[in-house]
Amino acid sequence: APATAPAACDAPLPVLGDEVRVPLAGGGEALYAALDYAASAPALRRVWDEVAAYAPYYGSVHRGAGHLSQLSTELFESSRATVAGFLGCREDDQVVFTRSTTDSLNLLAAVLPPRTRVFVFETEHHAALLPWERRADTEVVYLDAPRSPGEAVGRLEAALATRAAGAPALVCVTGASNVTGEVWPVRQLAAAAHRHGARIVLDAAQLAPHRPVDLAAWDVDWVAFSGHKLYAPFGTGVLAGRADWLRSAEPYLAGGGASRSVARRAGGGVSVEWHTTAARHEAGSPNVIGAYAVAAACKALTEAGFEALVAREARLLARLRGGLAAIEGVRVLSLFGEDSDRVGVLSLTVEGWDSSALARALSAEYGIGVRDGLFCAHPLVRTLLDAPGDEPADCEAPPAPPADTADTVDTDTAADPAGRPLHALRVSFGA
Ligand code: PMP
Repeated sequence: APATAPAACDAPLPVLGDEVRVPLAGGGEALYAALDYAASAPALRRVWDEVAAYAPYYGSVHRGAGHLSQLSTELFESSRATVAGFLGCREDDQVVFTRSTTDSLNLLAAVLPPRTRVFVFETEHHAALLPWERRADTEVVYLDAPRSPGEAVGRLEAALATRAAGAPALVCVTGASNVTGEVWPVRQLAAAAHRHGARIVLDAAQLAPHRPVDLAAWDVDWVAFSGHKLYAPFGTGVLAGRADWLRSAEPYLAGGGASRSVARRAGGGVSVEWHTTAARHEAGSPNVIGAYAVAAACKALTEAGFEALVAREARLLARLRGGLAAIEGVRVLSLFGEDSDRVGVLSLTVEGWDSSALARALSAEYGIGVRDGLFCAHPLVRTLLDAPGDEPADCEAPPAPPADTADTVDTDTAADPAGRPLHALRVSFGA
């Protein structure tokens, strides 16, 4: 393992297609290989250029007669329409701009009707696993990790069959895992949810950069995704889907933009009339550039064509798997088995090697950027590594990262009952 990781701060900002050279620990430099798209993907050149062309002219949206305000409002609202088209939204769906997938799913959790029962697989990313418990009146049903797409549907059907008829219910599923890259049977899960009178939200943070999403055709109620994983790294996420729950709940944030009219009440306090459009949940000055960047990425991906992207990714994945198969001790992590449908994301362990040390060595010695850890999906990685359950209180802490990198290196690690570190190494790529 290398003594230190090279300082990355002097490297130019990577834009997809640019060659970035990074210093190596032993001297010299290498062409940077960004293989951590599942954490954040580099900007597409086109997104970068479009944002650069608009950036000097941004203004406040929905609240100005001046030219820049008008221009920004037009770009913000046309970005919303582009995103709706990209997601296959129905006519009366709403597209709410948020900060991220995490923010989108927390927003949905905040607008659930009272006493909603939420069904979620334990294998979800924490962003999709954790928001529901925070509502005191929500009961969360955690489903065990399925070992095939068919088992996922069967397990959900069986759980939904036990719910009281008429009570609101929501199913939350991922489209593609950010750990294994495996694609989930979204259409079948949506059909199962609706057969039992439940709604369904799709976490498409990992799916949307790799495969087309179609809310109307798949009969999915809501979808959430993040711009920074879709080659649009400007701090914007999206929650899109059915307007009814969004419209009937209190605004996610209270403030300007969400309120249509506010007046002092004669008896004290204020009376507020909230918007019933997406603006209801977008209080405050929105991230116009982020929304514009997401729309630019949606357009670029649509024009490139998912068919071509999927074929290229499959070729790269096959090459990666072939190379890994030739290395002794490599174990590729999978829930659904060898032949499952995957996007360009793959996690592995190497027998006898510490994944964190391997990831640091790949960076320091070869300029290859990957991620190690449990990828914010601890229950899933524990299951994949055959170490489910609570970490015993008396187990040894996992090894600390080197002191000089402790503030930047991911501490997303855990230990098994014997105190051995529990983590894997992830390689991910895309367009
Ligand atoms: N869900 C999945 C499947 C993800 O991969 C991620 C990001 N790694 C998230 C949710 C959370 O996204 P964000 O951090 O942008 O909120």
